[in-house]
Amino acid sequence: MSKTNCRNCGGPLDIADSKCPFCGTKNINLTDIDLASGEAANFIFRLPNNITGVNGQAVYLTMLAVPTLDSLEMTSEPCDIYGGWNQAPIARYTSSMNLNCTLNLRAVQPSQSEEICNLTIK
Ligand SMILES: [Zn+2]
Repeated sequence: MSKTNCRNCGGPLDIADSKCPFCGTKNINLTDIDLASGEAANFIFRLPNNITGVNGQAVYLTMLAVPTLDSLEMTSEPCDIYGGWNQAPIARYTSSMNLNCTLNLRAVQPSQSEEICNLTIK
């Protein structure tokens, strides 16, 4: 798969693009990760400021971790429409849909280091 559509605006999107060329929505491509392999990979991400509390400075976490897909759950919220003389339910539609995808990163001890992770403050 090399093409898809932006989930925000529907425009055509190359999965290698870092942003949608039409609406600017970030594109985070995880297709290189084999969630079933158990293979560790380097993960680098910026921690939210409300977690780190380091005077508003950016804190980057680098870790060697095994990614897994813990759950993928789709739910929907039905909404009834009432009518008639007795205000009985006459129709039902889906008012919202949710998809919760839980990815887990389990850090592993690198063979060449005693550090399980690295924090960089910039
Ligand atoms: Zn878009």
